[in-house]
Amino acid sequence: MIAEPMTSQLAMQLEDKYGAHNYHPLPVVLSKGEGPLVWDVEGKQYFDFLSAYSAVNQGHCHPKIIGALIEQAKTLTLTSRAFFNDALGVYEKYVTEFFGYDKVLPMNTGAEGDETALKLCRKWAYTKKGIPENEAKIIVCENNFHGRTITVISMSTDPDSRGGFGPYTPGFITIPYNDIPALEEALKDPNVAGFLVEPIQGEAGVFVPDCGYLKNAYNLCKAHNVLFIADEVQTGIARTGKLIACEHEKVRPDILILGKALSGGVYPVSAVLADDDIMLCIKPGQHGSTFGGNPLAARVAIAALEVVKEEKLAEKAEALGKVFRAEMEKLGKECNLIQLVRGKGLLNAVVINDSPESSTAWNLCMRMAENGVLAKPTHGNIIRFAPPLVISEEQLLEAVSRIRKSFLEYTA
Ligand code: PLP
Repeated sequence: MIAEPMTSQLAMQLEDKYGAHNYHPLPVVLSKGEGPLVWDVEGKQYFDFLSAYSAVNQGHCHPKIIGALIEQAKTLTLTSRAFFNDALGVYEKYVTEFFGYDKVLPMNTGAEGDETALKLCRKWAYTKKGIPENEAKIIVCENNFHGRTITVISMSTDPDSRGGFGPYTPGFITIPYNDIPALEEALKDPNVAGFLVEPIQGEAGVFVPDCGYLKNAYNLCKAHNVLFIADEVQTGIARTGKLIACEHEKVRPDILILGKALSGGVYPVSAVLADDDIMLCIKPGQHGSTFGGNPLAARVAIAALEVVKEEKLAEKAEALGKVFRAEMEKLGKECNLIQLVRGKGLLNAVVINDSPESSTAWNLCMRMAENGVLAKPTHGNIIRFAPPLVISEEQLLEAVSRIRKSFLEYTA
């Protein structure tokens, strides 16, 4: 036990001494959250502009989601899939109707969702498409981020994610993102079973592909009897201004992967959705997880999705995203720190006018933290801005004024 009163300093020392050093956090120690706001141990208030990488779209500690968690936790939390439980089927009906698919396969983390989709795609390739055993290939994109497991990093082109963790899982073809001719070329291989893509590359720095890319990619996949698999772990659940980002181009993925905000950040819940023709390729015993589909997760996920609908979070993200980008464009004209503003809905990034090796973006994030806005640089010179979608316009503008102050102080 720790006898001393908790301070930011002590919390950071404990993590440094006893935790693996696999993250490099900003020196802010949070102890409370509500809606778009968080507080540190000393009571300082911040706007959270990272939202746990888009897991808390519904805001911190949303009363309805926490209520569902507490209610279910008092009754039954985990039974394993060795038996039925009275919450899972209700959730499965709700989530499949919500997103318009025949079936769902429940998992916990985003990376597990991706792994599940890859397995499903391979099974479909052998049982339905007729690809010879062990020959199936899946096309992936450069600069993707699908998580951290061995197979998932085998698809990665990021040296930090991948380097030193070989040998890697084979069976992937990597092509540039947002490149239709490259996809067309790769699809000539008759052993291609699937194309796995993020509708916007979030971790890569919020790369929004050209308008029409997803639709064209989907049509090409259809023409080659290849599954279009969308990883919407970060872009899904209203973040980009639609329920899923593929909706912007009226694309319905053959396999849809969701995670993060599927539980409002309250509990790890991920899901893979597909129609019967694909989903029923996996038979009992061929895939699963002890915690996947447990009653607690089921009730929390229903509440999280109800909040998205009741509070019209997609519409809010769409409207407030426009306000945010306009304000950042304005700021770009006031100081020479901003090279580019990009994003969709409330998933946005500002590319800082300095090299990825420079510490400018980090220093700006430190300055913003001092002024009460939390954001984190990615790939050196990109700052992602993704507040909880429950933020009001007034709060967003207050946060913008603090961001503006931080940028102007930095250039002064
Ligand atoms: N897929 C995408 C697109 C992501 O952005 C992430 C995490 O940031 C993941 C998968 C992995 O999710 P998790 O960290 O829950 O495994």
